[in-house]
Amino acid sequence: PLGSMAAGVLKDPEIADLFYKDDPEELFIGLHEIGHGSFGAVYFATNAHTSEVVAIKKMSYSGKQTHEKWQDILKEVKFLRQLKHPNTIEYKGCYLKEHTAWLVMEYCLGSASDLLEVHKKPLQEVEIAAITHGALHGLAYLHSHALIHRDIKAGNILLTEPGQVKLADFGSASMASPANSFVGTPYWMAPEVILAMDEGQYDGKVDIWSLGITCIELAERKPPLFNMNAMSALYHIAQNDSPTLQSNEWTDSFRRFVDYCLQKIPQERPTSAELLRHDFVRRDRPLRVLIDLIQRTKDAVRELDNLQYRKMKKILFQET
Ligand code: ATP
Ligand code: MG
Repeated sequence: PLGSMAAGVLKDPEIADLFYKDDPEELFIGLHEIGHGSFGAVYFATNAHTSEVVAIKKMSYSGKQTHEKWQDILKEVKFLRQLKHPNTIEYKGCYLKEHTAWLVMEYCLGSASDLLEVHKKPLQEVEIAAITHGALHGLAYLHSHALIHRDIKAGNILLTEPGQVKLADFGSASMASPANSFVGTPYWMAPEVILAMDEGQYDGKVDIWSLGITCIELAERKPPLFNMNAMSALYHIAQNDSPTLQSNEWTDSFRRFVDYCLQKIPQERPTSAELLRHDFVRRDRPLRVLIDLIQRTKDAVRELDNLQYRKMKKILFQET
C-alpha cells in the first residue's frame, strides 16, 4: 500500500503519470546491492518480463522529513525523464511500493571512482581524456538545455560494459540556469557556488569547475584539499588560488585543460561547448582505451583480497 501522503498526491494526474502501476517486487528479480547513499541503496536487478539488466535506486519516503524526501524523489524523477543523450544515464521509469520509490535506470559497471579504488593508483592520461571527453559531451547536452548537474565528481561518472561514459546522480541537479542555491559536494564546488551562499547566481560553468577538480581526482586519486575538513576546504576554495596538477609527468595539453577549467572567475572559464574543442579531448587516442581499462579493472577485481573483493565484485555482476 502507498503511504497516505503519496496516495493523496497521486490523485494529481500529472504526478501519478510519473509512476508505473506494476508491482516492482514482482517485476524486478535478483537484486544485489551495488551502491549506497544518503537516500538508501542502488541495486543490480533483472526485469523478469524482458530479461533486461537494470540498476534500481530505492528511495524511501517514510520516517523523518517524509514530505522533503517525497519532493526530492519527484525532483529527481522529473529531471531524469527529460534526459535523452548517449552520455547521460538512461531512465527507464519509477515504481512505488511501501513508502519507497524504485527509480529504474540503465545498468553501469561502476563509477570512475570505483576504478581508482580497484587500481589503487591514478588513471593514465589517455584514460582520463576519454572519461573527460564523454562527461563533457554529457555536460554540453545538459547546458544547452539550461540544466546544471551541480555534483560532478568521479563517483557520479559511470562506465558501461562497452566503455561508454554516463553522467549519473541527478539528485542535486538544477532545472533552471542561472541558479543560486548552495548545492554540491564541498571539495568539488566552484567558488561562485560557495559565494552564492551570500549573494549572486551561477550557471553551467560550475560543472566545468567540478570537471577540472575531477580531472585532478582521476590523476591523483583524491581531489585537492581532501585532507581538510569540508568547512575549511570551502573557505580555501573561495579565498585561495586555483589548484593545479601536482606531478610534471602530465602533458602540457592536460595541464592547460585543467587550468582552463579551474579559472576562478566564471566569465573567464570556458563553456562545455568550447572545451569540446580543446586539444586534450580532441587528441588522437586508441579507440579501445576504456574497453581495455574496464577489462583491466575486471581482472584486478578478481585478484582482490576478500574484503576488497566483496566491495568491488559488483563490477563483475553482469557476467555472472
Ligand atoms: P551519495 O549520497 O553516495 O552521493 P547519491 O545520492 O549520490 O548517493 P547515486 O550517485 O545516484 O546516489 O548512486 C550511488 C552509487 O550507486 C553511485 O556512486 C554508483 O556507484 C552506484 N550507481 C548509481 N547508479 C548506478 C547505475 N545506473 N549503474 C550502476 N551503478 C550505479
Ligand atoms: Mg552520487
